[in-house]
Amino acid sequence: MSAPIIQIPLRVLSLHTCAAFLDTHEPGKPEPPYPPHCGAGTGEEELVPELAWLHESPQATLIRKDCINGFVGATVVESGANRLVDWVNEHGLQAIVVVGICTDICVMDFVLTVLSARNHAMMPTLEDVVVHEPGCATYDLSKETAKTLGLPATAAHPQTITHHLGLYFMASRGAIVAESIE
Ligand SMILES: [Zn+2]
Repeated sequence: MSAPIIQIPLRVLSLHTCAAFLDTHEPGKPEPPYPPHCGAGTGEEELVPELAWLHESPQATLIRKDCINGFVGATVVESGANRLVDWVNEHGLQAIVVVGICTDICVMDFVLTVLSARNHAMMPTLEDVVVHEPGCATYDLSKETAKTLGLPATAAHPQTITHHLGLYFMASRGAIVAESIE
């Protein structure tokens, strides 16, 4: 994650309550269709140094997830409780601002699910789901590279198009896509 991506959210984070997802996988347990990543104990599952201060922040709620969709990952399987829903409701939040990678994968899955959960009255105070576009990004993988790596054609991932497709689908379902946060 490069500095410009987290510059504005850092300022926002210091002023408001925040929740952060840490993708964390049990070693050896795959998350299809992706290659192994963020295995517990590898260090990849930890916050980047620029965000490590969140561990000590009383305003921060850190949620480890083992699937793409943070909303689903925030569900405690045993009880059905959802830590993200509880966080929104405990703080009576009227709006949440979402940043992260990848725009069209984790961010989009989460935002679309939160919008459905909001419409399903699971978070009665929540009105606006805002996506801070400069705080989101996605990756580039050409068809040729995917083929060279032995990956299926569907692994090709044109960065500019997929970033904008993610934003498009979130906006089309009712999220507010913002260029800046005041
Ligand atoms: Zn993962």
